[in-house]
Amino acid sequence: MVDFDYTDVQRMIRDTVRAFAEREIRPFLREWDEREVFPRNVFQKMAALGFLGVMVPEQYGGAGYGSSEFVIVIEELARVEPGIALSVAAHNSLCTAHIYRFGSEAQRERYVGPLARGEKLGAWALTEPEAGSDAGNLQTQAFWDGTAWVLRGTKNFTTHGTVGDVYVVMAVTDREKGRKGGLTAFIVERGTPGLIPGKRESKLGMRTSDTASVILDDCRVPPENVIGEVGQGFAQVLQVLEGGRVGIGALAVGIAQGAFEAALRYAQERRQFGRPIAEFQAIQFMLADMATQVEAARLLVHRAAWLRDQGRATPKESSMAKLFASEVAVRVADMAVQIFGGYGFVKDYPVEKYYRDAKLCTIGEGTSEIQRIVIARQALREIGFRLRAS
Ligand SMILES: Cc1cc2nc3c(=O)[nH]c(=O)nc-3n(C[C@H](O)[C@H](O)[C@H](O)COP(=O)(O)OP(=O)(O)OC[C@H]3O[C@@H](n4cnc5c(N)ncnc54)[C@H](O)[C@@H]3O)c2cc1C
Repeated sequence: MVDFDYTDVQRMIRDTVRAFAEREIRPFLREWDEREVFPRNVFQKMAALGFLGVMVPEQYGGAGYGSSEFVIVIEELARVEPGIALSVAAHNSLCTAHIYRFGSEAQRERYVGPLARGEKLGAWALTEPEAGSDAGNLQTQAFWDGTAWVLRGTKNFTTHGTVGDVYVVMAVTDREKGRKGGLTAFIVERGTPGLIPGKRESKLGMRTSDTASVILDDCRVPPENVIGEVGQGFAQVLQVLEGGRVGIGALAVGIAQGAFEAALRYAQERRQFGRPIAEFQAIQFMLADMATQVEAARLLVHRAAWLRDQGRATPKESSMAKLFASEVAVRVADMAVQIFGGYGFVKDYPVEKYYRDAKLCTIGEGTSEIQRIVIARQALREIGFRLRAS
């Protein structure tokens, strides 16, 4: 395996997460996947190691690292169990990052600390039945009743929808203004009357990650739970997703890396025609393509993370990393199944799971089509092309 050019601290983080995942997660992969177990005890153990507050400063109980370290944590978890990596990514880069970045000092004290220490689990609810890629078309409404904001609507596909403690919920506060000034982000705590975890999805992959709808049935939220200012929600979402997409890119790299390593080992062990299949050029070419693509994806992810650590906006770079890495994960997992032959198709071997898990990466936090739109628009803007508003 190529040793990426990490600092000593980053190498230590990688080794710590890798050892943890091998010890605490790998032995249970199949059982948790088949039974769709959300392994809460693993989250408690990860909290003790700082995995749930990777980018939160130490003063708020986090590990105090940057994006470059965050992507290492996510890659290493995904190399073993992508569903847990997805949960950790969503907790860190969506819910916690949203409140940390745009919340008041009081909100940071009240929510970011417990989230970073893993005492609370975060959820981030944007998607709705009628608003997936078209996130500006939210139907969930929040209206002011004189003493509180009243939230009404349904969220779909919320990671930690049934197990979350702190939900960041996006809702329409002014329909006239639409996405430019009409959406607002709210913090809603578990147990608030009217916040009702809905149907937990049974999924193709990422089955350890809890995904559910969330119903807001006249859920009353105090004014101090508005994140930033009323009307700023959509602008915040775009910035949160920039960070989130780098995390999904890292998740995809981890899946591809795990599938590649499994295929590499299997190619040496499996013999056909009296020799290891690794001696066949057709297998070698697949291994070569896998190795090259994983490395290229990792470079794009780390470049986007590094730019973020420099305080730079990365609308194009995050989308490029997410788009490329997620499509690499799907291709590499596909090749891994091919190298395993029939054994790649059965659950006693590890690669069918990577194959199932990988697909989510081309869908969650913006599909591949949406990433291409973001990248193309940004590229056109950079040469001064005037796009029509959409
Ligand atoms: C496991 C899982 C976890 C998730 N976690 C969360 C979460 O924590 N919080 C949250 O808010 N959401 C979450 N999501 C939702 C996810 O972000 C959405 O599923 C995703 O954005 C796509 O939306 P959609 O499913 O409605 O697909 P649609 O938007 O209906 O897209 C359907 C197809 O149409 C294409 N399409 C749509 N618009 C265009 C266009 N303009 N041009 C070209 N093609 C287009 C899409 O690319 C796709 O191929 C999660 C989803 C899953 C499956």
